[in-house]
Amino acid sequence: MNNKKSIFCLSLKELETFCIKNSAKKFNAFQIMKWVYSTRIYDFNDMTNISKSLRETLNSNFNFKLPEITASFKEDTTDGNYSMKYLIKLDDGCTIESVFIDYGKRKTLCVSSQVGCKMLCDFCSTGNFGFQRNLTSSEIISQILLIENECKVKITNIVFMGMGEPLDNLFEVKKALEIISDPNLIGVARRKITISTCGIIDKLIEIRDLRYKIAISLNASNNYLRNKIMPINKKYPIEDIVKFISCGKYFGHNKITLEYVLIKDFNDSINNAKELIKLFFPQNVKFNLIPFNKFDIKNTELSKTAYGKLTENNYERTSETAYNNFQDKLMKAGFVVTIRHSKAQSIYGGCGQLKGSL
Ligand code: SF4
Repeated sequence: MNNKKSIFCLSLKELETFCIKNSAKKFNAFQIMKWVYSTRIYDFNDMTNISKSLRETLNSNFNFKLPEITASFKEDTTDGNYSMKYLIKLDDGCTIESVFIDYGKRKTLCVSSQVGCKMLCDFCSTGNFGFQRNLTSSEIISQILLIENECKVKITNIVFMGMGEPLDNLFEVKKALEIISDPNLIGVARRKITISTCGIIDKLIEIRDLRYKIAISLNASNNYLRNKIMPINKKYPIEDIVKFISCGKYFGHNKITLEYVLIKDFNDSINNAKELIKLFFPQNVKFNLIPFNKFDIKNTELSKTAYGKLTENNYERTSETAYNNFQDKLMKAGFVVTIRHSKAQSIYGGCGQLKGSL
């Protein structure tokens, strides 16, 4: 029947309400959720502890329809690990991307939260692509279900660093996270889930007690530079980020990560590093330095996709020396600095490169 709804759209509470309305018990909802998300049984008839009448009711109301993986691109790394980028076609024909990074015991999935993005960060291909719509919680969760099945792995870490600004779609992201982080359902621990944002401070305040890791995409050491590449800075300037971090209400042991895409001759000088030290010392933050990924796709398989229409901007990747000097300066000031050597870069799954292919 066409008017059936996907079971993946329902939160536990919504399913409880459905069960009660249909003369079943509230706890049946949890049993059904366990079948779906823990055992991965996608047929109500196989849910052996659910009564026949409830199974029939479920069958006539819900289906197990998932979006479809339409293409994938693989990148092997010299250390024996690999990354996969997946193009996923949604029900309405929109396409999103997810990137799976297999790195030893760490199986990370970079998920999308929107089709496109409204934030228009200048260095980002997603931002340059514009905004189409928010993803539903079910479309967010589907990325995990599809890729776990495709790669035959259990995802250990989730990062909201794919297409879109997760805090601009917070209702659906929170709904998805309830299922993703529930140890009885998908079961990815909250401390292994990172929400990466361009810095929507009001929403950050809303999620700071939820115990997910937070990463703020900073990318500049002063408002003049940040205004040039991140329009959100006009609404929430760097002082607001500093204030949010320094208010000390962010929970416990997790440091907030400040992501910093290093762009040659723009934000990669020692003076920029000094400005960062002045702003954030001695706050509870660590830096993640990311080399800028240029959109250069000529003569690649991707040139046949929507990437082929990308116009290049003028930004350049920082030099190895500038990169090392920048890192040294921050480390000598006492900051923890991690480096993201942009795994998945050759398949355009690196930071700022997810765009969706139509
Ligand atoms: S960097 Fe993030 S917030 Fe900015 S445009 Fe890209 S996806 Fe959106």
